[in-house]
Amino acid sequence: MTDLNIAVLGAGVVGVTTAVELQKRFRHAKIEILAEHVYEDTTSYVAAGVFRPGTSFCGPTQEITQKWINDSYTYWDEIRRSPEGARAGVTELSGYIFSSQHSQAVRNRYIEKLCPVYRAATEKELKLCPGNWKYGSFFTTVLTQSSYYIPWAINKFKSNNGKIIQKKIESLQEVGSYDVVVNCTGLGSRFLCNDYQVVPIRGQVIKVKAPWIKTFFYGDLDTYVLPGIDLVTLGGCRQYESWDLSVNKYDSLKIKDQCEALVPSLKGAEVISHKVGLRPHRGIVRVEKEILNTDSKKIKIVHNYGHGGYGVTTAPGTSLYACELVQEILSGNSKL
Ligand SMILES: Cc1cc2nc3c(=O)[nH]c(=O)nc-3n(C[C@H](O)[C@H](O)[C@H](O)COP(=O)(O)OP(=O)(O)OC[C@H]3O[C@@H](n4cnc5c(N)ncnc54)[C@H](O)[C@@H]3O)c2cc1C
Repeated sequence: MTDLNIAVLGAGVVGVTTAVELQKRFRHAKIEILAEHVYEDTTSYVAAGVFRPGTSFCGPTQEITQKWINDSYTYWDEIRRSPEGARAGVTELSGYIFSSQHSQAVRNRYIEKLCPVYRAATEKELKLCPGNWKYGSFFTTVLTQSSYYIPWAINKFKSNNGKIIQKKIESLQEVGSYDVVVNCTGLGSRFLCNDYQVVPIRGQVIKVKAPWIKTFFYGDLDTYVLPGIDLVTLGGCRQYESWDLSVNKYDSLKIKDQCEALVPSLKGAEVISHKVGLRPHRGIVRVEKEILNTDSKKIKIVHNYGHGGYGVTTAPGTSLYACELVQEILSGNSKL
């Protein structure tokens, strides 16, 4: 009962959420997180964390994808409503998405029925921001700021006897001594699993102090103004297969110009930092079991990676699903 050993690889939002959920399910197991980077060195810290899955976000089936999204919303919203909500960095947020080009840009098949409010913007609202906005939606959703959530989740994990080991895993064979390994290494899975379907989509943002911004705004050309718990995130860009982690001054200028054009009151807001992250994109997010046959033993693995630009949004849904797969892969194991 007590000597089940589980390793979670990765300490981003997906890894820590998975680890905390595994502790609930396998209460007597010894669970360790092994990660090369932790806290602010993960991609998860760059994200604004708005719950808004892109309409191209994709699991193995439409049904499973929608389940991941629904389960995630419920998960975040339960934390938000709990006394822990503020400490966990989960809050409710409303705002607008505008497009001057296409009505589809302001629709979202995944969340129109899920969020408490998702409606067309009125003619008056279309004039809220400068620009020739033809289409718009207003919606209410949740935001999870990783710089609060990850430390909160890690504290919870540690207080339940979880252990974090900071190290780079060079190959899955290295972790063969665990009963099961849950792989939440995001972009790292490209190398760890030789999975070339995982590609970076580079993003850059500016974090500014603008406490008067209480509403989010999305515009054309990846422009967004997203108020978080203490800072506002201005974005952005999506550069496919770019590995460049340095801050690009031309991207910064473009982001600043576009965001100030959308929300002019941002002019003069104090810039706190510029951040770059590589979104771990995979056409189909991989949450599945694998038995790896090595010379000495069979390694039981459950993968949970490839969330692209929507990992904060969807981490709970895929993590709960991964926990089910852990249960399945271990079933028949006398240690259960
Ligand atoms: C600019 C930008 C804005 C974003 N905005 C949003 C948003 O508003 N909403 C949203 O939902 N998502 C957003 N995202 C996407 C989100 O950040 C990612 O989907 C999410 O962080 C992925 O989480 P993860 O845990 O899979 O990966 P990561 O946070 O990258 O964590 C991966 C972990 O695995 C570890 N690892 C990797 N390889 C190895 C190895 N070989 N050995 C040991 N450890 C390893 C890493 O060190 C790290 O601990 C945004 C991303 C960017 C870049």
